[in-house]
Amino acid sequence: METRESFFDVVIVGGGVAGSSTALLLKRRLPAARILIVEKSESFDRKVGESTVEISSYFFIRVLKLYDYFSRRQLPKQGFRYWFSNARATTLKTASEVGPKQLARLPSFQLDRQSLDEDLLALAEKEGVEVWRPATVSELEIPENGAPNRLMVSVEGETRRISCRWAVDASGRATLFARKFGERRFNSDHPTSAIWARFENVRDMDGVDTSGTDPEDPWFRAVPVARRLATNHFTGYGYWWWFIPLKNGETSVGIVWDKRFLTPIDGDLTCRFRDLAGRNPLVTEMLAGARMVDRDIRTLGHLPYFVDRCCGRGWAAVGDAAGFLDPFYSPGLDHLAFSASDRVALIEKDLAGGGVTKGEIEESNRAFSQFFQFFFEAIYRDKYVYMGDYDLMTAAFLLDTGLYYRVAVWPAYKKSSSTLRRPPFSDRRGKIGLVPLRFYNRRFVSIARRRLELGTYGKLNDGRRPALVGFSLGAANNAMIARGLAMWARAEVENLLSYARLPRRARAARVGGRMRVVRALRQDFRDFLTLLSTPPHRVVWDFLTGNFGPRRLRPRFQIRYRRLAAASRGNLLRNA
Ligand SMILES: Cc1cc2nc3c(=O)[nH]c(=O)nc-3n(C[C@H](O)[C@H](O)[C@H](O)COP(=O)(O)OP(=O)(O)OC[C@H]3O[C@@H](n4cnc5c(N)ncnc54)[C@H](O)[C@@H]3O)c2cc1C
Repeated sequence: METRESFFDVVIVGGGVAGSSTALLLKRRLPAARILIVEKSESFDRKVGESTVEISSYFFIRVLKLYDYFSRRQLPKQGFRYWFSNARATTLKTASEVGPKQLARLPSFQLDRQSLDEDLLALAEKEGVEVWRPATVSELEIPENGAPNRLMVSVEGETRRISCRWAVDASGRATLFARKFGERRFNSDHPTSAIWARFENVRDMDGVDTSGTDPEDPWFRAVPVARRLATNHFTGYGYWWWFIPLKNGETSVGIVWDKRFLTPIDGDLTCRFRDLAGRNPLVTEMLAGARMVDRDIRTLGHLPYFVDRCCGRGWAAVGDAAGFLDPFYSPGLDHLAFSASDRVALIEKDLAGGGVTKGEIEESNRAFSQFFQFFFEAIYRDKYVYMGDYDLMTAAFLLDTGLYYRVAVWPAYKKSSSTLRRPPFSDRRGKIGLVPLRFYNRRFVSIARRRLELGTYGKLNDGRRPALVGFSLGAANNAMIARGLAMWARAEVENLLSYARLPRRARAARVGGRMRVVRALRQDFRDFLTLLSTPPHRVVWDFLTGNFGPRRLRPRFQIRYRRLAAASRGNLLRNA
């Protein structure tokens, strides 16, 4: 075994999309810097992370300037599309659908990650970055006192000793540095899992399979753009499926579920996948006649984790190595855009001779850990409770995405790409943004729980067609937010009225259902009396923080909700 020693300005561990993007940015800004990527795999495998949204697209096509590549080698994406089902909506044509009626106003893409990661790494090498592959970092010494970092790398049957001024962790979920520093925390408040696979011959939503040969078919005419090119979501209580078309004609299909609300059967991966697919009639329809690509089925048991520190003196983490929340709304590559933009600015300043102060490092750590925490609280906490309900999920989608455009997309396009250094919620006034978002999210959760209780969850899941103009950098975005607010207000009024008068659906429920509703209402009345005896400031506080009703009622509510939710879920599934 031979040992050699070499020095680099920056060593990046991991040559996936985060590692190559960071290397490209650094090399373009500091052409004289010696940059090395150490990548473990000999060639990249199929990966998730196949759909960009507006910030990650902005990063790829305007910061890295790869529009030409993306338009030729990847598929253009036509936004998000959501599908809902209930006992009356068991086919695509009867299901409620939400999505744009026009072409997306800003570019985004459906990615074949295997080719993207290979092409980006090759581009980094072409632009002067050194790449060692297959190579693994076996030992790591990061002194954080200004002395060079030392790494041992196994490559081509030998161990090479290297030192560097900056070491960058781009090892993805392996989170090499965070685990070394003991700073990765799994987020147990959000117990989500995923299974995914790739398929051939998935049903063509825009073809004769679905709407026949008649171009006048009303369902077909309702949406002038390609439905298939969207990221199609098929949602239900506690879960969502994605269908992402890929350039090679295959479709990536996967489910993410909250383990508190959905339990797959025991069995091998394919059995579990088929069982879960069979529980949603629309997914069943999409996959009828499709063939799973051999040996291309994967799973992850627990998705979200926080990383407490994303940089220190002489080291930094980018992409998934800096934390991961949830794939809903496809934010993974956005997080890469934010983290790489911030870390590259720090490293560039240091290598250019400006030095990096302790304060700058602390500010980055504060900003990013607040961003992850607040983003989780505002967007994802308990979201899977209302995901399967048409109007609650639509209102949330309109508000979440409209505000994303306002606070993240608009500043990047209209002000400067330097705004990517500070993600939403990360500045010191981030709490001002957090409070309203967390509030409406919690209201949707509460309303969904009540609907489960009354058996009215998903009552609008059939027959609704989209009429959304799509998000934009202009006034249309305000119209989308206003529409989301109107849907929320309607849901609140209906919810309030349900305390005065039982909803029609609940009244019409079968005998067992009727008794369940009567018992629930009797309990609500008792809870209401308890509410009256609660100090008013407590009630106001709970209302403002989204926990409508006094905290001491919650355990009772929760037990009841859990029981009723289980019964209602059984009912929904049986109906489906
Ligand atoms: C179910 C699911 C669905 C998702 N869907 C989306 C989506 O639609 N859109 C989106 O934006 N994001 C999505 N994401 C997130 C997205 O997959 C990630 O954010 C993205 O892939 C992160 O890229 P990365 O380069 O940080 O990590 P990776 O792509 O995992 O790359 C890490 C690289 O590091 C290498 N490596 C690891 N350890 C070492 C070592 N010791 N030495 C050398 N090399 C090493 C690995 O071989 C690998 O190539 C999804 C995530 C999940 C779990």
